[in-house]
Amino acid sequence: MLARTDSLDLGRLRLTAGEGRRLELEVALQALDFAGESYVVTPAAVRALLDISRMTHDGYALRLRFEVAVEGPCMRCLQAARPGFRVDAREVDRPGGGDELCSPYVSDEELDLHAWARDALALALPTQIVCREDCAGLCPECGTDLNEAGPEHAHERSPDPRWAKLSELKLE
Ligand SMILES: [Zn+2]
Ligand SMILES: [Zn+2]
Repeated sequence: MLARTDSLDLGRLRLTAGEGRRLELEVALQALDFAGESYVVTPAAVRALLDISRMTHDGYALRLRFEVAVEGPCMRCLQAARPGFRVDAREVDRPGGGDELCSPYVSDEELDLHAWARDALALALPTQIVCREDCAGLCPECGTDLNEAGPEHAHERSPDPRWAKLSELKLE
């Protein structure tokens, strides 16, 4: 069993300049709201690898890695989807080093692991959650699942776009 960690006091590791430590932790992740749908993150308590390096001129370089699956409706065909994602995020926190060197997840050597893991996962997600990369989605005309109906699925009545062009010409 790993200790569930939502925040971590980096100072307590007592790392000297240039020293590093790798920790294996459990981080809790809540369901995500994405495009109006709720997606469950599994496992909810994710096993994460955290690399911490104390920099030579004070401050920390951090790397967080974990793998999760996201469960919810496929955004194309609405069937259950459960794609997996590998998250690999880095942060640098150097007090006095300017805005870009100040991690929003570190304050007074306290690392907000929970917030970092949540944001890192959100950034790792694609623009669409799909059941599989080549999901064909639903027919825009009748709503049939095109993964099941196959590529032959078509509607007789939909006019051939070439004919539409022709009728436009006639109108002139
Ligand atoms: Zn799908
Ligand atoms: Zn159709």
